[in-house]
Amino acid sequence: MLNFDNRFVRELPGDPDRHNTPRQVFGACWSPVTPTPVAAPVLLAHSREVAAALDLDDEAMATPAMLAALAGNTLLPGMVAYATCYGGHQFGQWAGQLGDGRAILLGEAINRSGQRFELQLKGAGPTPYARRADGRAVLRSSLREFLCSEAMHHLGVPTTRALSLVGSGETVVRDMFYDGHSVAEPGAVVCRVAPSFIRFGHFELLAARGERQLLQRLVDFTIARDFPELAGLARQPEQRLATWFTEVCERTARLMAHWLRVGFVHGVMNTDNMSILGLTLDYGPYGWVDNFDPGWTPNTTDAASQRYCFARQPEIARWNLERLAAALATLGTSADDLAAAIARYDVVYSEEFCTAFAGKLGLLGWTPDDGDLLDELCKLMRLAEIDMSIFFRQLAQLDINDPQPRVLQQAFYRDELRQQFSADLERWLARYAARLRLDGQTAEQRRLAMNQRNPRFVLRNYLAQQAIDRAEQGDTGMLHDLLEILRRPYDEQPGRAAFSARRPDWARHKAGCSMLSCSS
Ligand code: AMP
Ligand code: MG
Repeated sequence: MLNFDNRFVRELPGDPDRHNTPRQVFGACWSPVTPTPVAAPVLLAHSREVAAALDLDDEAMATPAMLAALAGNTLLPGMVAYATCYGGHQFGQWAGQLGDGRAILLGEAINRSGQRFELQLKGAGPTPYARRADGRAVLRSSLREFLCSEAMHHLGVPTTRALSLVGSGETVVRDMFYDGHSVAEPGAVVCRVAPSFIRFGHFELLAARGERQLLQRLVDFTIARDFPELAGLARQPEQRLATWFTEVCERTARLMAHWLRVGFVHGVMNTDNMSILGLTLDYGPYGWVDNFDPGWTPNTTDAASQRYCFARQPEIARWNLERLAAALATLGTSADDLAAAIARYDVVYSEEFCTAFAGKLGLLGWTPDDGDLLDELCKLMRLAEIDMSIFFRQLAQLDINDPQPRVLQQAFYRDELRQQFSADLERWLARYAARLRLDGQTAEQRRLAMNQRNPRFVLRNYLAQQAIDRAEQGDTGMLHDLLEILRRPYDEQPGRAAFSARRPDWARHKAGCSMLSCSS
């Protein structure tokens, strides 16, 4: 049995209109909505860890009432359905009101340990924020969100979670590459779970509209509910806001270092997709770096400008924090305090980045020369088209007394580049081995430490696409295999080598494998 305590709707003003018709919503943080039932829901997969966190056992997950709730066909006792109102900067431009167009919250579940989780259906029908869209989601994007958010959690990256993936038994029409080729695809609903789905854009919209009182209420609510550790500052509102914003900056900084560490590219870092808790949020045209390329973006919409490419993510996160700071400035917060918080972003990001890459390289600490060592490696990985995940994982096997590139052979996509850069790689390995000797760790100590930071398994884009192709044919075997394997990404898992292999040639330029659009 889930227990609910729905503070968001209880403590913040709602929209009096109960209809799902598109509109601008003023003076409210949420609108009541009714999820649109689907024809023939099937539970395709669920996360047992998320279910367990919600005190739901397999039996509870298997009931018809649970399936109906996870499909948006019914509400369980205590649930209340609503969509929240937010805005955002999209691709650098202010976009006005956006809101949960196809996300419907079901309330806040409290588990036996008193932890709070918002449950949110994605794809359960239109809301007042759907504009002209249908409120639905296709199986391919839902499967990608479901699998990837769980994979990120097991990699140790802060993220929203996913409880379930439900096939809707209905089709959804999408024009995947916006080129006039609409296709009816299978539909699905994901139940996402996070302590809070509040985004930067929630604050930005109220500030843009001059709704200052409500903005202050939302800030107070967010601190009280989602940052209880800051509650002690309740009597100093000025200091409380600055401390809270500093915390948001620091969490965002840590998140960026994680994304770079594991080779994740979000793809659409608009401010409406930025979590106030510093979680990875809104899995759309995301991707994983195969051959190392700082300029790579999986998002075809962004291919020309590369605004959201791999290496620019920390810079964009900072830009997004500045937009949030501008919104908070309308409450009279001192510009110095806000600037100091952004400065903390820079400091924490750079510390976390160094810690993350020292760890990846098996170094005990980061010394001034290590930046140059890493830069050289990045240049080499880019020019020689080296697979990032395989390279770092295999690097742990290097014999520092005889640093030969043999152990790294699998990381190369092209033989001719491997040969062309073999002398450079040998030189780099010799320099790296000399650096490792300064630390004096045993090979075993270094290998164990590196293997905890360099995953063997990530959700490579082509693997997700293969799981999708099969699931669309009614075979969820690969989905379940991936869900299982990605629960232990740092373990070797003998017999599972096929799931850590570099991207095959056929997937290099294939839709879904290297090119994704926002159409989902
Ligand atoms: P995204 O690019 O997924 O972050 O979405 C940007 C905005 O478009 C958000 O307000 C979404 O809720 C909305 N949106 C995206 N797809 C749909 C859809 N199929 N139906 C309704 N709203 C949508
Ligand atoms: Mg979004």
